Amino acid sequence: MSNPSASRAFDSLPLSAALRTNLADLGYTELTDIQAQALPLLLVGVDVIAQAKTGSGKTAAFGLAVLNKLRVERFRVQTLVLCPTRELADQVARELRKLARAIHNIKILTLCGGMPFGPQLGSLEHGAHIVVGTPGRIEEHVRKGTLDLAEVDTLVLDEADRMLDMGFQTSVDAIVEQVPAVRQTLLFSATYPDAIEALAGRVMREPVRVTVASQH
Ligand code: ADP
Ligand code: MG
Repeated sequence: MSNPSASRAFDSLPLSAALRTNLADLGYTELTDIQAQALPLLLVGVDVIAQAKTGSGKTAAFGLAVLNKLRVERFRVQTLVLCPTRELADQVARELRKLARAIHNIKILTLCGGMPFGPQLGSLEHGAHIVVGTPGRIEEHVRKGTLDLAEVDTLVLDEADRMLDMGFQTSVDAIVEQVPAVRQTLLFSATYPDAIEALAGRVMREPVRVTVASQH
């Protein structure tokens, strides 16, 4: 779906005053293409499949939607973001923390494989609003009962094509089973192969597809 008349201004969106002020402080003056197309839908709460190339600002697209609806006074995991690698999870967490600077006491936790398990248990005991991680390690925490996903209302599958390429399909499916069925599911992918369409069919509800074509 492409809507060239979508507004470029963050002010055109129903974002909280705290988020808007912070965006101005960050020097985010204009929405990127994918943000202009996807954010109005994301903020309404529907399921969205967004396809756009690397570097197009997909993190802030889902990040702003997630942060805008998050209830910071409710200290439970409300958003789960799955990423294919630790590097990408760290990158997403960094961008989310930047966008969340104006929200006091918000806790964003990364849980990735290749990192020691013990400190993650300690962090989980302290609690978090948003968890960003890789499917294998998230599944492990869920299986051991150390990560409670019962209050998650937003599930983000970031770089979903790469997650499937890396063999995470079984883990993703196992995790999705532990997330409440009533939720917003957002899927970001650079490509849209059949396997992604099948995944979307399993885990999303009437998703709206937004595509920003590459310029070249
Ligand atoms: P993608 O996930 O699409 O590959 P990212 O979300 O990592 O891309 O964003 C790429 C870079 O663009 C990041 O450094 C981010 O801070 C920056 N960025 C995102 N949205 C905006 C915006 N509206 N204005 C300015 N910079 C932005
Ligand atoms: Mg990204």
